[in-house]
Amino acid sequence: MAQPALVWFRDDLRVADNPALRAALDSGRPVLCFFIFDDSSPEIRPLGGAARWWLHGSLANLADNLDKRGNRLHLFSGAAEELVPRIVSETDAAALFWNRRYGPEREIDARLKKRLRTEGLEVRSFPGRLVYEPGTVLNQGGGYYKVFTPFNRAAVAQDPPETPLPAPRELPRASFPKALDALSVTLEELALEPRGPDWAGGMRETWEKDGAGRGEDAAHKRLKAFIADHLSGYAKNRDRPDLDATSRLSPHLRFGEITPRQAVHAALAAKTDGAPAGDYDSFRAEIGWRDFSYQLLFSRGGLHTRNMNDQFDAMPWREDDSALRAWQEGRTGFPVVDAGMRQLWHQGYMHNRVRMIVASFLTKHLLIDWKAGESWFWDTLVDADPANNPAGWQWVAGSGADAQPYYRIFNPMTQGEKFDPQGDYVRQWVPEIADLPNRVIHRPWEAKREALEAAGVVLGETYPKPIVIHEDGRKRALAAFETIKRR
Ligand SMILES: Cc1cc2nc3c(=O)[nH]c(=O)nc-3n(C[C@H](O)[C@H](O)[C@H](O)COP(=O)(O)OP(=O)(O)OC[C@H]3O[C@@H](n4cnc5c(N)ncnc54)[C@H](O)[C@@H]3O)c2cc1C
Repeated sequence: MAQPALVWFRDDLRVADNPALRAALDSGRPVLCFFIFDDSSPEIRPLGGAARWWLHGSLANLADNLDKRGNRLHLFSGAAEELVPRIVSETDAAALFWNRRYGPEREIDARLKKRLRTEGLEVRSFPGRLVYEPGTVLNQGGGYYKVFTPFNRAAVAQDPPETPLPAPRELPRASFPKALDALSVTLEELALEPRGPDWAGGMRETWEKDGAGRGEDAAHKRLKAFIADHLSGYAKNRDRPDLDATSRLSPHLRFGEITPRQAVHAALAAKTDGAPAGDYDSFRAEIGWRDFSYQLLFSRGGLHTRNMNDQFDAMPWREDDSALRAWQEGRTGFPVVDAGMRQLWHQGYMHNRVRMIVASFLTKHLLIDWKAGESWFWDTLVDADPANNPAGWQWVAGSGADAQPYYRIFNPMTQGEKFDPQGDYVRQWVPEIADLPNRVIHRPWEAKREALEAAGVVLGETYPKPIVIHEDGRKRALAAFETIKRR
């Protein structure tokens, strides 16, 4: 039996546009595919609950797609650095291929590459996660861009990315040695989905309705539907949480079920067919934010553990567990904030505009460290992303590389009125105030007594009074910022 080529799947749970899988096929060797659920290596940030739920569906679909091609996905659980050499030696592999990662896990990859190459194995890694890898879009001085706009301008000037690779039709399967049986696990044994209690009902309802789901097949359905129904108008509507106007590709991209270049190519084809250029540019820019965040993760490291701008190390954050809990549970008394936090809890997702509003509210109105919000998002988002999540939080908090131009404090009332003008989003998620008139739906404390009575709202009983007075919170945040600005 020929020595196999191994493919180590990580954040690239797909068969199409997968350079590592393609290289294995092109090697002419039988192919053995595996995934390691590694929750124990210190370089790995353990997945949060919602992302674990997503991963289950993603792996199930990858296993199906490999099955259809005559192959199989083998699962393991444990520290990659111990397991990979075992798998290599037990299978008597000749080659090992993977697509690259950009966070601290790449130290594991570098050590493994060095060690296994010394032992004579062919080990190759490929770019498969981004449109442009860190280091390929650099400023004129050859350094990393610190600000998004020039980064994106330079990236877009390099467009278009290479044509995505098609999925292989067949994948000759390598035999699986008996000695590995004892080490391998089933998907059920990974216990990624919650049991007792099963809190994933809202996520299933959201992501699995209309035959959609998790995994590569669903990702392509979603991309197709987005291009057909929402790309035209995206630039104008993408900020509206009350409309279904964005792609919702984020968890699919997070787990590499689809590549950003597949998304960019599909949007580009739509542009050629007449979709407005402004809408394409706007969508391309959002995908560009993702590359930019990964560039930050790669070049700076520690994105979720420390302030990019170290002035913020002296920020006088408040410890306030009851305010943090009210924020987490959607009980702040600010309707758009509460709507967002409840959407997050139910769906494992929140609209981008609302992510900015709730993040600003936590870090400014409540003056709570962005790391507390980031870690709540990490646990509750199905798309919890090691680059986008901390980069998004630091951008809003003001501690990021490309922070908002000045110390901006989002006004939750005017943001709500602008981006949820009829209050539909708030009414969906905060039904206890649904009968208030539009005029006060984003500021119920200003409603007249008769309006509250007619809507059955008793502030402080059926819906909370604001946990902070807007103007007080704003002033306190500005004063805190003044103390670090002077340093
Ligand atoms: C505080 C905060 C936390 C965030 N946490 C995450 C996270 O954990 N995971 C995540 O994928 N995104 C995160 N984002 C970015 C953004 O909110 C989501 O990517 C977006 O809402 C996903 O919805 P969509 O797929 O419909 O986006 P679309 O508008 O359809 O955008 C297409 C894709 O572009 C990428 N993208 C869009 N906006 C951004 C952005 N601002 N930064 C980086 N990439 C972007 C995403 O991959 C997205 O799927 C965060 C933003 C903020 C402000």
